[in-house]
Amino acid sequence: YEQAKALTFPSYGEPPSVLSLHTHSISPPHGDLLTLRFLASPINPADINQIQGVYLSKPTWTTSLGTKDEIAVAGNEGVAEVIALGEGAKKDGWKRGDWCLMKGPGFGTWRTHASASTDQIVKLEEGVREGITAIQAGTVSINPCTAYRMLKDFVELKEGEWFVQNGANSGVGRAAIQLGKAWGLKSINIIRARENDKEKEDALKQSLYDVGADVVITDAELQSQGIKDMSKEWTNGGREKIRLALNCVNGKAATAMAKLLSSGGAHFVTYGAMSKQPLTIPASMLIFKDIHFDGFWVSKWAERNPEEKKTTVEDVLNMIRKGQFKDVPVDEIKWEWETKGDELIAKVKDTLEGYREGKGVFVF
Ligand code: NDP
Repeated sequence: YEQAKALTFPSYGEPPSVLSLHTHSISPPHGDLLTLRFLASPINPADINQIQGVYLSKPTWTTSLGTKDEIAVAGNEGVAEVIALGEGAKKDGWKRGDWCLMKGPGFGTWRTHASASTDQIVKLEEGVREGITAIQAGTVSINPCTAYRMLKDFVELKEGEWFVQNGANSGVGRAAIQLGKAWGLKSINIIRARENDKEKEDALKQSLYDVGADVVITDAELQSQGIKDMSKEWTNGGREKIRLALNCVNGKAATAMAKLLSSGGAHFVTYGAMSKQPLTIPASMLIFKDIHFDGFWVSKWAERNPEEKKTTVEDVLNMIRKGQFKDVPVDEIKWEWETKGDELIAKVKDTLEGYREGKGVFVF
């Protein structure tokens, strides 16, 4: 029997009030079951929304972890190592020491160990995994894949063309900068202003230039008078087109971002809702500028395109191996057997508020 600990919740609510650390045991695997030991699991904004009950994809409610009433394990993304497996799983080509990612959302990844069946996980083949750290593997499926598909699947950008994005310091945003750079695209990146802390703001801008951003401005600068002229200056008098916008934030600043798009068939793709504000679109953008407004959800895309998902992940891991794709800043949260639930939950709470230095990732 394997002893396991998991951050679980019995019903929806604010993470600090509903999460608790639950200990249980896992029986030896048989058939196509495997026992997993988690290596790294990030805290993504969607995980929080899922606990709050406001996310479209739901967690898995279960009594299989030894509770009378149903509970769910939080977390959707992560990488785990196979530590024991049944005969059926062996026949399927699995072995001890293999690394795997979750096939879809809702598995519950904020836990030390789990029992999984072969159809819930995807193997990272030896060659794919080579030279890749657990944190890199544990954060590759959602943010980089989202950025990758949004840059490829809405308009065919030619080398030297531009895209513009807000939430540029997010995991998705940083991935988009780097992928864009590797593919010869140029990027205008919008960040939240660090009010009263110019030094921090400049350091943040610099850190995005360091990974390949061409232009970095704050949301305040975006909404200032001179933005039209600045944009012309960046794009060679408007001759270089801005044909794609990636919207993580919404609200007024997103409308201002849409104004930077070139006329005639540009796409404005919304994938996040960080400001919790609605998106307002002037009719003229649709009628005269012919801008297309789209949405993207990586979970739905992956469900429809499992093979392409696999190759996208592999492509990003290849780029990481070649040094073309740097890790996002990470706040490593060590989760040892003795670590108290309160400490872990406090870290989850931290990600709800304020300006963070990096994405929280549980490392086991
Ligand atoms: P991260 O946790 O890496 O970063 C969050 C970002 O949001 C930070 O850059 C932060 O800005 C910004 N932010 C936080 N609060 C606000 C606010 N009130 N107004 C404006 N910006 C804010 O995020 P991820 O990259 O993991 O996710 C970003 C968004 O994308 C989330 O909404 C997430 O749900 C969504 N997403 C959607 C996917 C899809 O398939 N549709 C897939 C992956 C993510 P700062 O840098 O200033 O702190």
